[in-house]
Amino acid sequence: MYRRIKGTRDILPDEVGKRRVLEQEAIRLFEAYNYLPIITPVFEQTELFVRGIGEASEIVQKEMYTFEDRGGRSLTLRPEGTAPVVRAYIENNLMEMRHPLKLYYIMPMYRYERPQKGRLREFWQIGIEVFGAPGPDVDAEVIFLMVEYFRRLGIENINTYINTIGCRQCRPAYIEKLKEYLSDHLDELCDDCRFRYSRNPLRVFDCKEEGCAAVLAGAPFITDNVCSSCKDHFKGLMDFLENMNVDFEINKKLVRGFDYYEKTTFEVTSELLGAQNAIGGGGRYDPLVKDCGGPDIPGIGFAIGVERLLLQLEEEGLIPETDLSPVAFVVFTGDDMAVRAHEIYLSLAQSGIKAEYDYAHRSLKAQFKQANRQKARYAVIVAPEELAQNAVKIRDMETGEETLVPVKEVSDRLKAMMEEVN
Ligand code: AMP
Repeated sequence: MYRRIKGTRDILPDEVGKRRVLEQEAIRLFEAYNYLPIITPVFEQTELFVRGIGEASEIVQKEMYTFEDRGGRSLTLRPEGTAPVVRAYIENNLMEMRHPLKLYYIMPMYRYERPQKGRLREFWQIGIEVFGAPGPDVDAEVIFLMVEYFRRLGIENINTYINTIGCRQCRPAYIEKLKEYLSDHLDELCDDCRFRYSRNPLRVFDCKEEGCAAVLAGAPFITDNVCSSCKDHFKGLMDFLENMNVDFEINKKLVRGFDYYEKTTFEVTSELLGAQNAIGGGGRYDPLVKDCGGPDIPGIGFAIGVERLLLQLEEEGLIPETDLSPVAFVVFTGDDMAVRAHEIYLSLAQSGIKAEYDYAHRSLKAQFKQANRQKARYAVIVAPEELAQNAVKIRDMETGEETLVPVKEVSDRLKAMMEEVN
């Protein structure tokens, strides 16, 4: 018996159907705002993530699936979408396609995290990235799109948080200030935060340990220590958001896990999901394209976790219905009818009616049992008596009503019947 790898899931037919509904809704929304789809490879050169996400980040330190391929190259399974999309943007000269360029993706991600509810090692993200738009209007639009997507799905019990984490000009001075504050409290911090203190001090704000939270209550916040350009940007963002009627709160502790962010960060969290309550998050990453070897083009984006979104929809009783049952089950009275029955099944499927047929050639009674089990709406009964007149019976499996129909007309009649019941 083989078993799936810890932290991965089999996505079974019913759930795939539900996910498709979510994906379609996202595609409809993003495409209306002129976002274009992109898909990048599942694995990339390891260096892209080390440089892009940042060497001291949790993802690079602890969570990457890194391996050597047979050619001795170090490769990593994609832990997030931004760095690969940036790489693709530069490598394919997409700045020449449109400027600004708005992209969206729906792709699986891989992180070696401790699996728990809402936290997997393989999970899917729906995300967008915008290149070439530096102003706060686009920050507001990106945040709006995330909130609007959740609104269209009917989600209510969520909160939207925003923050500014400064830029490369103003952050270093703040980091010194923060380190100075933290240096007096080092023995009160957890081991992880002591590491963060020396490598990536801003990240201490992400810590959930009580002791660390207590220390941070008195810490200076980046939000209050940014330069005037970052301050104006943040103010501009809030003006746009207010004008767009987006409900948001400032969360001065919202620093997020990637080194590439600057200025705007944001996150949508659930009131219902417990420990892993972030459903989606993002931020502005103006230096990243240049850091990855491209031109100096600003960027901003977000990612939503599909599995957490499904958990949220479940909590709110909003899981979309999926219908796995065939419309028509073609049943037949014996082996001598199999060829004609199969032909009718094929013609139904070809005309776009979801159809099924009994490959095992069971008894008529057993075939009806199958049709019932699969919740087929209609049975098409292929039997010698009717076939002699080039006809079959269609049985409504709910009412038991039977109609004699010429073979040539079966699909049209079924379509008409379906329209009537719908
Ligand atoms: P991040 O890329 O870390 O900003 O995460 C964006 C979103 O992806 C989060 O808000 C979650 O919804 C989802 N996510 C991140 N990590 C995981 C994980 N290990 N398992 C499931 N979903 C995740």
